[in-house]
Amino acid sequence: MARVVVTGGAGFLGSHLCRALLDRGDQVVAIDNFITGSVGNVEALFGRSGFTFVEHDVSNYLWVPGHVDAVMHLASPASPVDFERIPIQILKVGGLGTHNGLGLAKAKGAKFFLASTSEVYGDPLVHPQPETYWGNVNPIGPRGVYDEAKRYAEAMTTAYHRVHGLDVRIVRIFNTYGPQMRPDDGRAVSNFLVQALRGEPITIFGSGEQTRSFTFVDDEIRGFLALLDSDVTTPVNIGNPAEYTIGQLAEMAIEVTGSTSELTYLPLPVDDPAQRQPDITKARELLGWAPTVELREGLERTAEYFRTVLS
Ligand code: NAD
Ligand code: UDP
Repeated sequence: MARVVVTGGAGFLGSHLCRALLDRGDQVVAIDNFITGSVGNVEALFGRSGFTFVEHDVSNYLWVPGHVDAVMHLASPASPVDFERIPIQILKVGGLGTHNGLGLAKAKGAKFFLASTSEVYGDPLVHPQPETYWGNVNPIGPRGVYDEAKRYAEAMTTAYHRVHGLDVRIVRIFNTYGPQMRPDDGRAVSNFLVQALRGEPITIFGSGEQTRSFTFVDDEIRGFLALLDSDVTTPVNIGNPAEYTIGQLAEMAIEVTGSTSELTYLPLPVDDPAQRQPDITKARELLGWAPTVELREGLERTAEYFRTVLS
């Protein structure tokens, strides 16, 4: 049994992670300032033994009393709509928040786990993307606030490993979806399913030929725990390599909801990556991890969640 601090614990992935840690007998201290998360995501955990919640902005000084075995740093807005809305908060939590989390882990002799992202590859010129690819990022574009914050966070985490011998893990997360996403989160999966359920037009940005590889949340969290429990201190891609165009995703959202929604085409956001697919050889070989939930099944399960939320 371990005592684990989860920053961003009231977010989409953070709340699933807190539940998975409690399920395996760990104690959890979740920390969140609710900038994009919600109490609703964690209210079912409040009664569970071993769960503590602290409302706090981790870009400010961070301290947790008592013994800590691991600090899992998930705090960060993650949707492209937030990149425009709260860019400075994103840079701060990726920079200062990561530094604070590293400082806490060092003081406690704990492991530090960083939630990084496929966005470190930017608009990739190598396809699929292995961890050895350095990426193609526009530092001053609208997505740069997120991509560069995460690249800085990886650099800072690796420096703590080299200089202080801190035991670190870095997961590069590819587009993950599932129950507990905010209906108004702004990402493709949530937008399309909510639009389809409401019978509204499905908003495709650009031609819809750009690709993404979507991972169901249960697979992603299983990957997090496999990495946490491993001894791999370098970045690992955790994502489902099944690649779809955004047009295909829209069609599937319509099918699984039985919707009559039509497609509408809007301008492509600046620097929107043209393609994305993880090379997961490293995760397969070092963690024995592979995804199990196919997109259609995952969308059905997510649509069921949104149906309940919307009604
Ligand atoms: P989310 O917005 O649902 O969760 C992020 C949580 O962090 C929210 O609860 C938010 O309130 C909290 N937070 C943000 N800034 C904070 C601060 N300064 N102090 C305390 N709490 C703060 O997003 P998510 O999809 O659950 O993403 C979780 C992590 O995974 C993020 O670090 C994100 O960059 C990373 N990630 C997610 C995806 C994905 O597809 N979901 C992909 C790549 C990386
Ligand atoms: N997208 C879209 N319509 C939407 C939301 C997103 O066509 O309503 C596109 C977006 O331009 C991108 C892809 O879907 O090409 C995935 O977007 P998302 O915001 O989910 O994640 P990210 O761009 O960060 O991978």
